[in-house]
Amino acid sequence: MKFLRRFVKAACVCVLLTSLTQTSGVAEDGVFVCTLANGADVPIVLDNALLNIAIAIRDAQGRPFIIANPQVMAAFKPATRWFWLAHECAHHQLGHTLGHYGPDREQQADCLAAKQLVKNNQMGGSDLQAIEDDISKVESSSSAHLPGPARAAEITDCVRSQVNEGQND
Ligand SMILES: [Zn+2]
Repeated sequence: MKFLRRFVKAACVCVLLTSLTQTSGVAEDGVFVCTLANGADVPIVLDNALLNIAIAIRDAQGRPFIIANPQVMAAFKPATRWFWLAHECAHHQLGHTLGHYGPDREQQADCLAAKQLVKNNQMGGSDLQAIEDDISKVESSSSAHLPGPARAAEITDCVRSQVNEGQND
């Protein structure tokens, strides 16, 4: 029992530290920043040849990157572009690019992305509406993603729960 209590305490401190350091959002200079729990910033590389909106990868040395296709990004509203980058950032933050993931990894990444944007005051009501509209139209590229409308609804739930959490602070 004593051990359990100590363990729970350690786990709580760990979660607190994690939520303080890892973040993603748009900096004052308009550049998107993705920071991991260890304080490392994840570089964002633009590649017009990428056959996707954006992806989270690690190179042979294990360094994390986000690669985004600016031409594909341009088809989306600004709020949705930031959301895609926050989503890829969340894959790194959640350890998915290190092989730690379950079947719900896409929903986890969506939810963490939405929560961090809310926390950084970068997801207002009109932003959420823009993201919902865009994502409702996106056809899921793989079975890991929910169909567009269901995916948008889950993102809205995450935003709501983060707004409620913020009010309790
Ligand atoms: Zn994803």
